[in-house]
Formats: sequence, structure tokens, C-alpha cells
Amino acid sequence: MILVTGGAGFIGANFVLDWIANGDEPVVNLDKLTYAGNLHNLDSVQGNPRHIFVQGDIGDTALLERLLAEHQPRAIVNFAAESHVDRSIHGPEDFIQTNVVGTFRLLEAARQYWQALPAIKKEAFRFLHVSTDEVYGTLSATDPAFSEDNRYEPNSPYSASKAASDHLVRAWHHTYGLPVLTTNCSNNYGPLHFPEKLIPLMIVNALAGKNLPVYGDGMQVRDWLYVRDHCSAIRRVLEAGRLGETYNVGGWNEKPNIEIVNTVCALLDELRPRADGQSYKTQIAYVTDRPGHDRRYAIDARKIERELGWKPAETFDTGIRKTVQWYLDNPEWVAQVQSGAYREWVQKQYQAD
Ligand code: NAD
Repeated sequence: MILVTGGAGFIGANFVLDWIANGDEPVVNLDKLTYAGNLHNLDSVQGNPRHIFVQGDIGDTALLERLLAEHQPRAIVNFAAESHVDRSIHGPEDFIQTNVVGTFRLLEAARQYWQALPAIKKEAFRFLHVSTDEVYGTLSATDPAFSEDNRYEPNSPYSASKAASDHLVRAWHHTYGLPVLTTNCSNNYGPLHFPEKLIPLMIVNALAGKNLPVYGDGMQVRDWLYVRDHCSAIRRVLEAGRLGETYNVGGWNEKPNIEIVNTVCALLDELRPRADGQSYKTQIAYVTDRPGHDRRYAIDARKIERELGWKPAETFDTGIRKTVQWYLDNPEWVAQVQSGAYREWVQKQYQAD
């Protein structure tokens, strides 16, 4: 049994689906179901006895103690976080609460649980913390890509809160010996991505005939990784990562945002041409840049390749085509995450608990 937190969100849900599909070990999935958590992401494993969903907060110590005692997981994988940079700029409080205080509470509950385990289980236990490349700050066009030795220089409230959580994880290993692993991954894309993030926003807006808002000059560079490749990296680190180590995870796909938007438009032009025959590119609209917008992130993923033999299975071309196709094939998912009806349904479902 493993305990996953944030498993109704974008990456967490992909991880849970992947986990269930690729083995027989059960998973307890603890998620608060914020606006970013979506139970429909887990429709295909609803009712599967190997998936136990619990609505709750990683900051709720009593709940954590109960879940750990009841399910006796051999590992915790922590995805739960507030994850959207723009939201962190407008309202940083939730980011501090979940990403910093929540991670602290989870670490403390994990430590107490782990310390009380019998020796053999104690040795096998793992706490894997899922983090981001944004903790390293920003790069110039000529800087080498981020390696695990880069200094932490977070620039947004989001990345600062994730950096703080990474430091707590590190300290719980150094001070208490908790068997931790940390992954710092670049931008993910793929199915189940909430349409506030660049790629799904562009797809959804394009199809709805709306503007495609591009920040500043659109030349901010990010590395992109298909979400299922991130999931396979996490599984690999959980299996074989060296305790206390951090592993950078990336797709070797550095691209400026405007190139991403153009690629999405070109795929849509091919797969779902506009009725008037024009390209979706005509909907692109440059908007005022995000304050403090980091210019470039790039990931040097050689350590995880060298030590653990992990490599992404998708190229950007194959991954982005699958992604665009998935959004075209799943309009009801998009409608659900955009509607208030979904949130009301969740409230009703879990009111009794
Ligand atoms: P997401 O916003 O889609 O999902 C986060 C999930 O966490 C949601 O289901 C939400 O309900 C849940 N959650 C939020 N606060 C919670 C709390 N207090 N207790 C329990 N559950 C809570 O995020 P994501 O994009 O899937 O990211 C998952 C993790 O991966 C985050 O830690 C993020 O920092 C990290 N990460 C994301 C990316 C990316 O490109 N999306 C890249 C690298 C790392």
C-alpha cells in the first residue's frame, strides 16, 4: 500500500491511474479537492478496490495519523500543493498554508509513523516529495541547464513555497533520518491538465473561438515533459533512488511559449480546422507580462538517467499530439472542470463524511 496526496489533481491523478494500471499494489489517495482536484479524473478507477479515495487536507494531523495507522503504507508520495503561479501572485496565503505548513504536518506525521515501524518496514519506508524546477529561479539564454547542484533562488510566491517545502524535506532527512527522496521536474503537459495552464488553456480557448493570451513577447523558455513520463520517473525514483537525494526530471524539450502556442494551433488546424478556414493562430493576443516572470527554465536530467536509467518515452511531437487529441476527444471533461455544477456535485458527494 502507498499513500498518495493530491491524487485528484493533474499529475497526481495521472500517477494514480498509471500505478493501478502497472501493478497490483493498492493506493490510498488523500486529496482536499480544491478547485484543481477533480474526481472525474479518477472515473476509471472508481469502485476499484485497489484505489481508496479520502477527501482531506495534508495539514490535518489527526486525519493523517488515522490514515497511516489504518493503511500502514510503505511509502508516501506527496503531490498535494497549490500549483498555479498566477494564483500565488494574487493570493499567496493558500500556498504557504498547503505547500509549507501542509508539507510540514505531513512530514511530522510520516516521521512519527516511520519511527514506530518495526525495523524491516522502517528500512523499506520512503517519503517522496514531488517538486518543481522553479525553485532554482531563472536562467539567461546562455546559462547551463539547472542541475541538482544549482542554488535555490525562487522568484514567485509559488516557487518560494515549494522551495520551503523542499528544505523541510531535506531537514527531516538530515535531522531525523526520515528516508526521503525529492524530484524537481520541469513543466508537465498532457491529459487531465486544468485549463488555467498554458497548453490546455490554448486548446480550450482556441476551440471556443476566444483569444489565445500570450504573456509579454512570448519568448519565455520552459522545458516540457509529458505527464506520464513524469509518472514513470517518480516510480523509478521511488524504486531505486538514493535516500536524501534530489533528482531533476525533464524532457530535453526547451521551447519558448510562443512556439508552444503555434504548435498547438497548427495541430488544431490539422485535426479540427476552423469553419472559416483560417488558422487558430489568428486568435493569438499578446497581453501584459506576468510580474517577475522567469525568463528561462531548463533541466539537466543526466543524474536520473545515469543513476536510475530513466528516460522519457515521448518526444515533444508525440506528446503534444496525444495531448491535443485527448482534449478534442474529451469535451465533457473540459465542460465539467469549467462548470460550477462539478463543484456542487463534489460538495454533495462528500458532505456526509
Ligand atoms: P494540481 O494543482 O493540478 O493538483 C494539486 C492537487 O492537490 C489537487 O487535486 C488539489 O485538490 C490537491 N490539494 C491542494 N491542496 C491540498 C491540501 N492542503 N491537502 C490535500 N490535497 C490538496 O497540481 P499538479 O500540476 O498536478 O502538481 C502536482 C505537484 O507536482 C505539485 O506539488 C507541483 O508543485 C508539482 N509540479 C508540477 C509541475 C507541473 O508542470 N504541473 C511541474 C513540476 C512539479
